[in-house]
Amino acid sequence: MKYEAVIGLEVHAQVFTESKIFCGCSTKFGQSPNSQTCPICLGHPGVLPVLNRKVVEQGIRIGLATHCKIAPYARFARKNYFYPDLPKGYQISMYELPLAEHGTVEIAVGDKMRQIGLTRIHMEEDAGKNLHEGIEAASHVDLNRAGVPLLEIVSEPDLRTPEEAVAYLKKLRAILVYTGVSDADMEKGNFRCDANVSLRPVGTEKFGTRAEIKNMNSFRFVQKAIEYEIARQEKILEEGGRSFRRPGFGMPRAE
Ligand SMILES: [Zn+2]
Repeated sequence: MKYEAVIGLEVHAQVFTESKIFCGCSTKFGQSPNSQTCPICLGHPGVLPVLNRKVVEQGIRIGLATHCKIAPYARFARKNYFYPDLPKGYQISMYELPLAEHGTVEIAVGDKMRQIGLTRIHMEEDAGKNLHEGIEAASHVDLNRAGVPLLEIVSEPDLRTPEEAVAYLKKLRAILVYTGVSDADMEKGNFRCDANVSLRPVGTEKFGTRAEIKNMNSFRFVQKAIEYEIARQEKILEEGGRSFRRPGFGMPRAE
């Protein structure tokens, strides 16, 4: 192979809590639409979000379990974008001052051990859900998930193969489950992943143009999607092109 893949992963894990991150609404899965909402998670004006202490504790726990440096001071930020399932018009997330940084996760692929760097871990709220199936000529919005606590766990671009990416995800999922931070139930979407993939000629340092694959919730899909992306970019580079990136078009978040 002439090229080497550079892969970084972003994981969104739902934090195991009884109530949402900024209000007292239940996080119970599978209840009837909009039955677990209040003025705070519906984004009414004038309300006061109050941080759920348990989310911070769980975030620190996963930070310690992945050898991160825990921030003495962290700050929430507003990420503004319009989407029908985001009633406030912004997501409360963290930007400049995340909860934890500079961790590592050790993985084994075959008989090789590797340390994968963790860039950061931050807390944020989930958005609601648009419902399209079984509805004629309309979409409905269920806001039960709006305000459900998430941890976003971002890796360094240290992974080189689809197998390493899957090994990293399996290890991270196991750490989340064993520390009791998340049930990381992939079928419920409680552990979902975005992958940034680029290729560069073997032996070079500079990163190629990357593509982001969003919102995968199975190890098999992650493996297949990264394999596909590597083959796609290899073909483009072989033909003398740059791998495709639509300028200015970034999906703001995983659905
Ligand atoms: Zn609420």
